[in-house]
Amino acid sequence: MEKWDSNEGTSAFHVPEWMIQFADQKQEFNKRPTKIGRRSLSRSISQSSTDSYSSAASYTDSSDDETSPRDKQQKNSKGSSDFCVKNIKQAEFGRREIEIAEQEMPALMALRKRAQGEKPLAGAKIVGCTHITAQTAVLMETLGALGAQCRWAACNIYSTLNEVAAALAESGFPVFAWKGESEDDFWWCIDRCVNVEGWQPNMILDDGGDLTHWIYKKYPNMFKKIKGIVEESVTGVHRLYQLSKAGKLCVPAMNVNDSVTKQKFDNLYCCRESILDGLKRTTDMMFGGKQVVVCGYGEVGKGCCAALKAMGSIVYVTEIDPICALQACMDGFRLVKLNEVIRQVDIVITCTGNKNVVTREHLDRMKNSCIVCNMGHSNTEIDVASLRTPELTWERVRSQVDHVIWPDGKRIVLLAEGRLLNLSCSTVPTFVLSITATTQALALIELYNAPEGRYKQDVYLLPKKMDEYVASLHLPTFDAHLTELTDEQAKYLGLNKNGPFKPNYYRCLAPTPPLKTGKPG
Ligand code: NAD
Repeated sequence: MEKWDSNEGTSAFHVPEWMIQFADQKQEFNKRPTKIGRRSLSRSISQSSTDSYSSAASYTDSSDDETSPRDKQQKNSKGSSDFCVKNIKQAEFGRREIEIAEQEMPALMALRKRAQGEKPLAGAKIVGCTHITAQTAVLMETLGALGAQCRWAACNIYSTLNEVAAALAESGFPVFAWKGESEDDFWWCIDRCVNVEGWQPNMILDDGGDLTHWIYKKYPNMFKKIKGIVEESVTGVHRLYQLSKAGKLCVPAMNVNDSVTKQKFDNLYCCRESILDGLKRTTDMMFGGKQVVVCGYGEVGKGCCAALKAMGSIVYVTEIDPICALQACMDGFRLVKLNEVIRQVDIVITCTGNKNVVTREHLDRMKNSCIVCNMGHSNTEIDVASLRTPELTWERVRSQVDHVIWPDGKRIVLLAEGRLLNLSCSTVPTFVLSITATTQALALIELYNAPEGRYKQDVYLLPKKMDEYVASLHLPTFDAHLTELTDEQAKYLGLNKNGPFKPNYYRCLAPTPPLKTGKPG
């Protein structure tokens, strides 16, 4: 493979040479252990800090220890107390979780090895606010290996894996997070990351926009030194666009959420793998022969439908967009209106990103034991509030599972109170998170190393070439052999042999406007 030239093709995105050389060394990273324990995996996705989020059980959740971590005096084995976690003694268990995650995050491990000689993040001081999970730990330790100093808080009060936070603190990362933080703890932890004597961040990695918001509110002067923001979530990206529109965005920002590698893999493949897991863990149901209606045939809906169809379910689809509707038909699904099947289906799944897709009227008409759940971002898709009326009885039967009982004895099974099923009730594949985390790492490297003027105070998308690069780093895992264009073919198609292979507008989804890609300013 030839080296990508940052100034060739449609994108001026600079792919550092050390990365490219690394991509060539496919075989070296084509080793996967055959037995990989898979537990305790959760992931980073946009959610507000107080949304319910439960990761899989941890080894040592010492919930009987009621002392607030803020009131504890803890030191790691090197004597540092610059962290605040539930229990530093859990570090060893956390280390095992991190090692398990490393097996499924080949691109980050690849970047690490590659960076042994070069440190593209040398001098970077990254303050991060994401879910603190084993996968995030692999990302943080990769950023460290690339030369960065990091300080980290959790973007969600429920999602921290305490033992992973402990392992990070033990290895010297100032981490301020624990599972079950109060709202006050949440902001205190963020503040401890940024309000430090003798240390000022010059990069932000955010998931949800709370960290960025805090710095804007409390320490606006910090932006003088900050070179850029990398944002992961829909919510955070939306906030950045609002800032940009109001002319208040004072540094360049990278919208990771809308990059193709995030959308395509996080939405489609992640949901294809996790929908069954979420349903099974909560209900123990068998899928074969069950009638399911999936509302919305976007990326998430396509993933859910594919998984259920493969299990022998009879799948109906509802759509508002004739193109997605036609896709559903061509994929062999019956396109219906929800009203037409609501009385007969065993499961209703929403994945529209819309509101009130399942109304009280629908809920009234469902048959006994119908399961209702949501895979969309927010809990607005099912009108759960309409079920909180005196004539209906709520019975909590398991964690995240409620039976809502009508006066005639009919009951429906509501999962996670209408919040994201897979994030609330199951785990998601680490490999998918690897793709997103690699995108985050590369976006940080790009913003940190970009010459003056390449990026203005605006929100940018990762250029196609970089998306392609993230994908290429994951191909060796599958022993996949990519075909290279011949000179003649490249000329015929009008392409650079090394990409980008598609125009920037070629996407799997219509992205949220207005999207800019990394072009010179
Ligand atoms: P998308 O825009 O590709 O798909 C949504 C589809 O729903 C569209 O085709 C739209 O036409 C259709 N739709 C809208 N209103 C509808 C209605 N009333 N009835 C029927 N169809 C309707 O989006 P996506 O990538 O599939 O994401 C869907 C949601 O899932 C978003 O909220 C997204 O944030 C979320 N998401 C969830 C996960 C997860 O892990 N659960 C992962 C990624 C994204």
